[in-house]
Amino acid sequence: MTAARPRILVVDDSRTQLEWLAGVLAREGYEVLRASSGREAIVRVRQEPLDLVLLDMILPDMEGLEVLRMVKARPEDQFIPVILLSVKSDLDSKVAGLRIGADDFLAKPFAEAELLARAAAMLRIKTLQDQLRGTQRKLEEQSVTDGLTGLKNRRFFDERLAEEFRRAQRYSDPVSLIMIDLDHFKLVNDRFGHQTGDLVLREAAEKIRASIRDPDICARYGGEEFAVILPKTHLAGALAVAERIWREMGQKVYEPRAHPPGEGAVPLRVTASIGLAFFPAKDITSAELLVKFADDALYQAKKSGRNTICLYQAQNYRYEATKL
Ligand code: GH3
Ligand code: MG
Ligand code: MG
Repeated sequence: MTAARPRILVVDDSRTQLEWLAGVLAREGYEVLRASSGREAIVRVRQEPLDLVLLDMILPDMEGLEVLRMVKARPEDQFIPVILLSVKSDLDSKVAGLRIGADDFLAKPFAEAELLARAAAMLRIKTLQDQLRGTQRKLEEQSVTDGLTGLKNRRFFDERLAEEFRRAQRYSDPVSLIMIDLDHFKLVNDRFGHQTGDLVLREAAEKIRASIRDPDICARYGGEEFAVILPKTHLAGALAVAERIWREMGQKVYEPRAHPPGEGAVPLRVTASIGLAFFPAKDITSAELLVKFADDALYQAKKSGRNTICLYQAQNYRYEATKL
């Protein structure tokens, strides 16, 4: 429902009929919008959020069915019920209306009580549809979100990386990938407990999110591993982002919960090792290989003492980030 008061658009070229319909609906507490031609109706439907349309089938400038087609062609995330106002005998246009997606009919002449009952029934369906769509959207969102950090999850990451890689190949655009792994994270859990471990993961994720731009995609790749896709980004740009993430994470001071309870809490730092790969580059011909080489670079970073950034290049190259 668009608001506390349902909004109903009434379309009728007869002024008397229009005013009567609008009056009845307004007295019932609905917000009523009026249109006396097809053109006017279409403008209203395009511009205003609506909960219901009452549509006369015979209009001066176009068929009511054309307006109906237009209402039903709106983006599928919005359901707007339409009640056609028809003459009882006109079976053909009733059938045509149903085919296009009309939700109900009112045969002229009709009584006030019938109008109100049918409008209320349609608005109930509209409310249910909106709730259903809301739930569906939430479920879709949840299915691509990591529950602990609120970042995108692995499934979303895999899909988007494949997409971005295809796009980069097709348009000869660059794309970069950053893999981030927290250093000695097992020790955080062991020393401070899993709750603190979880807190570090959440706050580290927040640092990553804050270090990237809007088109970039960051995801929780696995336990304490994160990944960032940088569409249309060359090595130099990706390196700047990686360095920002690396510095932000390394400087962050976490406040662990006392573990075991009673012992004073000590401030805690957790550094990150980062691997970076980019396209176009020699040997990188698929999204899988981009991940593999970013992962290799990450492994290199771990091997060379952690808390650093390594780039994938034809020969592995270590980027000398100043140790924190
Ligand atoms: P390295 O520097 O080599 O990366 O060492 P590490 O200890 O970080 O790496 P390792 O892969 O040995 O350990 C990762 C740890 O991350 C082990 C696992 O218990 C922990 N972990 C994974 N997921 C979660 C989580 O959701 N919450 C918490 N608290 N810990 C997690
Ligand atoms: Mg680790
Ligand atoms: Mg790991």
